[in-house]
Amino acid sequence: MSIDFTSGRESVRKLTDPAFNGFDDGEVSLRPQSLTDYIGQEKAKGNLRVYIEAARQRGEPLDHVLLHGPPGLGKTTLATIIANEMGVDIRKTSGPAIEKPRDLAALLTNLNDNDILFVDEIHRMNRAVEEILYPAMEDGEIDIILGQGPSANSIRLELKKFTLIGATTRSGQLSAPLRDRFGVILKLELYEPEELQKIVERSAGLLKIGIDKGGSMEIARRSRGTPRIANRMLRRVRDFAQVMADGVITKEVADDALNRMEVDQLGLDAIDRRLLQSIILHYGGGPVGLDTLAATINEEAVTIEDVYEPFLMQQGFLTRTPRGRCATRLAYAHLGLPYPEQPAKRPGLDGQIGFED
Ligand code: ADP
Repeated sequence: MSIDFTSGRESVRKLTDPAFNGFDDGEVSLRPQSLTDYIGQEKAKGNLRVYIEAARQRGEPLDHVLLHGPPGLGKTTLATIIANEMGVDIRKTSGPAIEKPRDLAALLTNLNDNDILFVDEIHRMNRAVEEILYPAMEDGEIDIILGQGPSANSIRLELKKFTLIGATTRSGQLSAPLRDRFGVILKLELYEPEELQKIVERSAGLLKIGIDKGGSMEIARRSRGTPRIANRMLRRVRDFAQVMADGVITKEVADDALNRMEVDQLGLDAIDRRLLQSIILHYGGGPVGLDTLAATINEEAVTIEDVYEPFLMQQGFLTRTPRGRCATRLAYAHLGLPYPEQPAKRPGLDGQIGFED
């Protein structure tokens, strides 16, 4: 793969887009295989340990699990770890990949006792498929229609006991009947820099990359709380260290490389900054509706919602109000723009400009 340190939008986006998976299949798998190796998410991990142990003691499958949180936080990894810890097989698919009810029926009837079916992007599953899932999750059976028209017949099939693990970036889009059928619902949070530092150090060890504490912390601080981005930055900064420095990633090397890739001191990329700038310069700081904002900066509304906003909100740069998105005082300061003290000077705040979608 060629090294691209240009500041073109595509390269910046791939580096910091947690949904983009293209560089993850590197020479060595960085996915942790056990709960002990899975860094951070202490709350989710602590609860899972108990559920796994209890299910194992009873010799039963784990209850159905829903994992939700922004992309790149480790949902797929955690599903694989659950399978490892339970000592069962896992079949992986995704909501949009299951087109017809019979595709899901085929997946379900092929599972062995206590196996796991992992469905990524489960909110994108279509209704007809979802309806097959209800009796499967609840009663361990499915109805299959044989034939067509008046001669069609429905037969009921008993399934082996299984665990469904669903992953979603938008739990709000899940239908209530589906959500209610998950016994365990775990929310994954953005990671703290100290946790990401451990992830970077672990990955550097696996990839045999020389890195010091300053280097790992610099990458951790600037990877939007997301392990997938931290690992990707590590690989790109390594290229840089190899070609331009003596191969070891120090704070200076990481800082220089990330600056060239237009990732700023707090980990904001060009699109984050454009988004905040647009709210401030075009909409008086907000509120501005999501669709209006998306059209202004030429990005998809879903991408803004799933990828950019969680991090900008966590950093305190953006708020979501019932009337739209607003830039905070911190955002003005970060971009070096003067904050208008009088609300009247911020037209969005008195309802002149902003509107919610
Ligand atoms: P998601 O399914 O939420 O999009 P993934 O499970 O694919 O995210 O994780 C992305 C990458 O980040 C994985 O390849 C893995 O190497 C790394 N990763 C995620 N969570 C952790 C963690 N808690 N500890 C170590 N590495 C992690």
